[in-house]
Amino acid sequence: MIDTHTHLQFRAFENSVDQVIKEALKAGVEKMIVVGTNVKTSKKAVELAQKIDCLYAAVGIHPHHIFEHHDTPEVLDEHLKKVEELITQNKVVAIGEVGMDRHVYQKTKHKNYQITEKFINLQKKAFAAQIKLALKHQKSLIIHNREAVEETLEVLEENWDKSLEGKTVFHCCEPDQKLLAFAKAHQIFIGIDGDITYDKAKQEFVKKIPLNLLVLETDSPYLLPTGLKFPNTPANLNIIAEFLAKLLKIDPNDLKQQTFQNSQALFFRRFLTERDSYKDY
Ligand SMILES: [Zn+2]
Ligand SMILES: [Zn+2]
Repeated sequence: MIDTHTHLQFRAFENSVDQVIKEALKAGVEKMIVVGTNVKTSKKAVELAQKIDCLYAAVGIHPHHIFEHHDTPEVLDEHLKKVEELITQNKVVAIGEVGMDRHVYQKTKHKNYQITEKFINLQKKAFAAQIKLALKHQKSLIIHNREAVEETLEVLEENWDKSLEGKTVFHCCEPDQKLLAFAKAHQIFIGIDGDITYDKAKQEFVKKIPLNLLVLETDSPYLLPTGLKFPNTPANLNIIAEFLAKLLKIDPNDLKQQTFQNSQALFFRRFLTERDSYKDY
């Protein structure tokens, strides 16, 4: 299996990352994509991936953290430049996570957090700029959307390029018909997380997704499968796979094989041809 979305560089894993990776490998998770959320965590993701064989990195600025630039939009361009510097580093397979987010977070490091028109416009600008970076550097694209389907699709429609087909994922996808239709039309993968174990709307939604578009992710340390305690870890990908196989009434091994192939196509096929020095893919 491949955990297509984890934040192993976050503080929750500061003292346990080696052990957590060991347990993931034991649970059958062969590769993990460590996803950045701002310049700092993107840099950490790259450092971790370059140190540990089974890890790969994604770099980008999460829409929530665009709030940092609410009063200093000129700094955003500097940060986007730093993201671009990171893209060319070894073992970076994708831009992400990037996208749109209208959720009013209660627990956030950003003071006076609110969704203003200016903030949404900045999110759109950063999202579009980062899609362009993915295109320019031929990287895969990890899209985060929360409560902002219209804006997400608007930016995607304006900036879409056929070369992103089969290289893009709606991570932790909301159960929304419009997202599914767009995903089917443009061959975008759909990420399934631990919340599938209790979210009834997602359980119905996942039955409508073609198998060849499904990928698995933990979003660890967040999105725990039901009954587990913080922090979530990549080893729990197995719980998601087993639950999903039962829900879809298919053999767990078939599901694992199909989602593995999907994840390989999503992140590694292009990377493979680019860098044939990596023999172990
Ligand atoms: Zn996300
Ligand atoms: Zn995430």
